Amino acid sequence: MSKILILHTGGTIGMTWTSEGYKPDGKNFRGAIYHMDSLKAHSMPEWDFIETDPLLDSSRMTVSQWNMIGQIIADNKDCYDGFVILHGTDTMSYTASALSFMLKGLNKPVILTGSQIPLCETRSDGRDNLITSMIIAGEGKVKEVCIYFGGLLLRGNRAIKYSANGMRAFESPNYPTLATAGIAIKYNESAFLPENDRFRFKLFKEIPIGAITIFPGFKFELFESIITEKLKGVVIDTFGSGNIPADNGVLLPMLEKAKKNNVVVVVCSQCPQASIDMNAYEAGSVLKKAGVISGRDMTSEAAITKLYYLLSNYDDVDKIKLKMEDDICGELTA
Ligand code: ASP
Repeated sequence: MSKILILHTGGTIGMTWTSEGYKPDGKNFRGAIYHMDSLKAHSMPEWDFIETDPLLDSSRMTVSQWNMIGQIIADNKDCYDGFVILHGTDTMSYTASALSFMLKGLNKPVILTGSQIPLCETRSDGRDNLITSMIIAGEGKVKEVCIYFGGLLLRGNRAIKYSANGMRAFESPNYPTLATAGIAIKYNESAFLPENDRFRFKLFKEIPIGAITIFPGFKFELFESIITEKLKGVVIDTFGSGNIPADNGVLLPMLEKAKKNNVVVVVCSQCPQASIDMNAYEAGSVLKKAGVISGRDMTSEAAITKLYYLLSNYDDVDKIKLKMEDDICGELTA
């Protein structure tokens, strides 16, 4: 029988209502978990339960929390067959992306899940999300970092939070679903990451990284001053397949300055379903000429966490730029 470590980090699933709104409540949640009959069912994997201190609303997650979660998994990798991480939905796709890079080659299921309604409420979606995540982790067919939510198993570094109030809160617009959980759990094996057991655990450093969303009338000059050597990387969310207003006399000198200051500039799309093609329009080709990196079909979450991963582990900016366009753990279509 397989054994799973459940790690509670916070989020709505373990919250209760207070006069200030929903707040993590470890004591009640622990009680609920240990009394949940379905978790004790014969067909379930064995499990242990631990929690981080403090439990967080995931909007408060930082690089050091990602490191802490990654370290717990790395330290326990030989004692468990898989991991279920209970996490707030707001930044779940960031944590899932970060863990996918950090734990490359772990070759075990790491399933992040949570809920839109706390477990203590009658209509909570947390019960199914937790139970199905446990079954998927216990079966051990998918050996990568995933998000399971509302019936869908998604690759963690391809997922985005899509709905703040629907039970199907996550989507993976640029990559197929890894499994769907209806009456049966149907796996889409052809979409799984190829097995790789060269485990290389890498912690992230607190690197200064920025993100910019372009909109019509964008005033590049307001951001020009942040492109100093202090900034190590920036993700620009452009229109469509990588289009940006370049006829303003500010963007190109700004990109030139970024190059001089060794700032890695990566372009992603504001369209959830997209792949960057800087050759498609004249409005995008300027970016290519300026040496900007294509984020291809990466989510902005994956691009940001990949920048953390690469900038934490490599010094050579040219190497980082090359690796940024490479597929490291299924985060982009090469
Ligand atoms: N604010 C909560 C969190 O991300 C939302 C949730 O869990 O659904 O922690």
